[in-house]
Amino acid sequence: MKKAIVTGAGGFIGGHLVGELKKHGYEVRAVDKKPLNQWYQVTDGVDNRVLDLTLREHCYTAVNGFKEVFNLAADMGGMGFIETHKADCMLSVLINTHMLMASRDCGIVRYFYASSACVYNAEKQMDPDNPGLKESDAYPALAEDGYGWEKLFSERMCRHFMEDYGIITRVARFHNVYGPYGTYDGGREKAPAAICRKIINKELYGKDEILIWGDGYQTRSFTYIDDCIQGIINIMNSDITEPLNLGSSEMVSINQLVSMVEDIAGTKLVRKYDPSAPKGVRGRNSDNTLIRKCLDWEPSTTLNEGLKHTYRWIKEQMLLDKAAGTGEYARAKHFH
Ligand code: NAD
Repeated sequence: MKKAIVTGAGGFIGGHLVGELKKHGYEVRAVDKKPLNQWYQVTDGVDNRVLDLTLREHCYTAVNGFKEVFNLAADMGGMGFIETHKADCMLSVLINTHMLMASRDCGIVRYFYASSACVYNAEKQMDPDNPGLKESDAYPALAEDGYGWEKLFSERMCRHFMEDYGIITRVARFHNVYGPYGTYDGGREKAPAAICRKIINKELYGKDEILIWGDGYQTRSFTYIDDCIQGIINIMNSDITEPLNLGSSEMVSINQLVSMVEDIAGTKLVRKYDPSAPKGVRGRNSDNTLIRKCLDWEPSTTLNEGLKHTYRWIKEQMLLDKAAGTGEYARAKHFH
């Protein structure tokens, strides 16, 4: 039986990955620093551990007895979080550093690291009509301040642990992942979930204005969670030693994203713009030439399809919140 540790398992992507690995017959150890009752998903038959992986000794406890690590733990959120918590984001370097050291010392053979499109050079993201960022566009380095620099540094640490200590490390650069069981309020949420929430607010609470960060012409691509999970497993099991983009190449502006969710909801809101809000780079898209060539695969869920699932799930949560009289995300636990 294959055995794997997933860190950040109480979060969005980690929670989905644990469920998928279980389905593939893995023995899984799931690790997160949050108390178990705050995990977004808890899967039956998994060794769930609450550990703070910035601490070296907790990393040794986490990896003990296993051969594979999927390291997804990080202190992170959407633009609103990373532009205002740069030091916190950089402190995630302790997680990857101590996890790699523990992996080296305890016989871990394969190690996956969750990097980000935020490693890319800002000067290559000034045009909203971005043709797609190639993996080589991370250099010369001018990453997103704080969060992006930490990811770039940790990518290189993975590379050097492979060269110097022989651990097989694999790195994926995620591009805006969204889907059910993700954060949709509280300040760490990303654009698709925030827009769904604002549009559902009209239906549930009669708020018919939507505040859009920036002028709405900034562009991004958004990756549905099922594609992200499939990509993580494909990249982990591949022989590709360089970081790979793991993202959709269907680029839209934030204004278009709002229109798509409005169409799904069958409603229209009055748009207001906040030019001073955090908005990140002007244009970002994933160039998938390399992943197609290496894996004969790339994310394929359309944005419209993924948004429909996401919208439906967020609406269910907000209806539960409303019925409970909380009106806010009560961090519903989903035990299955
Ligand atoms: P998330 O915030 O939902 O999950 C991260 C989890 O890590 C959280 O549950 C958090 O409690 C845990 N964590 C933080 N510090 C920890 C510590 N010291 N010890 C143990 N656990 C700790 O985020 P996510 O969206 O699931 O992202 C997972 C990974 O993917 C992260 O490394 C993130 O940087 C990366 N990533 C995500 C996206 C995205 O769009 N979601 C994009 C690029 C990269």
